[in-house]
Amino acid sequence: MKLFALPLLEPHTAALERCVYCPKLSRAACPVSNVEASETVTPWGKMSVAYFAGRGTVPRDEEHLETAWACSGCYACRERCEHHNEVATVLADVRAEAFARGVAPGVTKRVARETRVRDEEYARGLATLEPAAGPRARIAVVLGCSYVRHHPDVARSIWRLVQRMLGPEVRLVSSCCGLPSYQCGDREGFVAAATRTAQQCDGAERVVAIDAGCAATMTHAYPRFGVAALGVLPLIDVLYRELDRLPARALEGRRLRYTDPCQLGRGLGRYDEPRAVLARLLGSAAEGFLRERSEGECSGAGGLLPVTRPETSRAIADERLREHERRGGGTLVTACASSLRRFRSRGAPALDLYELVAHALDAE
Ligand code: SF4
Ligand code: SF4
Repeated sequence: MKLFALPLLEPHTAALERCVYCPKLSRAACPVSNVEASETVTPWGKMSVAYFAGRGTVPRDEEHLETAWACSGCYACRERCEHHNEVATVLADVRAEAFARGVAPGVTKRVARETRVRDEEYARGLATLEPAAGPRARIAVVLGCSYVRHHPDVARSIWRLVQRMLGPEVRLVSSCCGLPSYQCGDREGFVAAATRTAQQCDGAERVVAIDAGCAATMTHAYPRFGVAALGVLPLIDVLYRELDRLPARALEGRRLRYTDPCQLGRGLGRYDEPRAVLARLLGSAAEGFLRERSEGECSGAGGLLPVTRPETSRAIADERLREHERRGGGTLVTACASSLRRFRSRGAPALDLYELVAHALDAE
């Protein structure tokens, strides 16, 4: 059965059909349905609403399509699915259909309208960093608006780290990668931001992205919309390749617990690299959680969840923090600006991995 009523879902027909007829094997993986205790927002439920909306069996209105925003984009369901169904990607396209039809949740329209304000804040924040090399420098660096707007001190530390590791031939990309627009369902806004970012990276020998969300978006979403694949290198790879340059045992004795950011872990497959960097600084492995790596639990920070379902987002983060405390507490370490913001907003002593490395190098 073709899903002509929602054309963007057409390429996902097989994935949608698999979910609709599935005994919900990924059910327990979804952080959203776990805290809301609702069948409608399980991966199966959200895919089923999309499928039936596509067929015209349920109304294509805000009440039904808003379920597409009940997703943090954590990819946990994919890991439990025999078919590796890309639920988050399908739901992103449902969002785009809803947004284009004017039936997206009001709050997403506000976020989309505020794009220019965010871009201006990002530009002002970047301007406070030490000047980068000229626009033809060999390495283009995407620092990420979330770091710069919400964690300016962390952004400054990271920028020092980048210059130290990569040398003087670095230039800052001032365009947002477009992830907020993508999460709103604002496809036009997303493609415009992605195109600007690609243009600013033009001619660079290497593009390094700091925030895991930017890196995953540029790696996976850009090619889907015809924006040139940029061969993005996440900063963690730079550190991992040059582990010997990091100060051994600089943080020995600190109690640090690493939590896998969804976009860096399941999104980009970087599990060993952050652990190796932390182990270098500590002289031993960092502490962890019961479920880790591909099974790691979400922070509740992704997919625009803090805006569209703030209580759910907070409850997901709190669940993670309760386990952190049960395991003995200490400092929670992430490598994602959105997770950092989420955890800190709940009062957690959270730090960013790159900030930790920068400070360890400063103290040498
Ligand atoms: S994502 Fe996979 S396991 Fe989950 S409902 Fe769909 S087909 Fe079933
Ligand atoms: S990507 Fe994560 S939040 Fe979204 S449906 Fe799958 S498990 Fe749930």
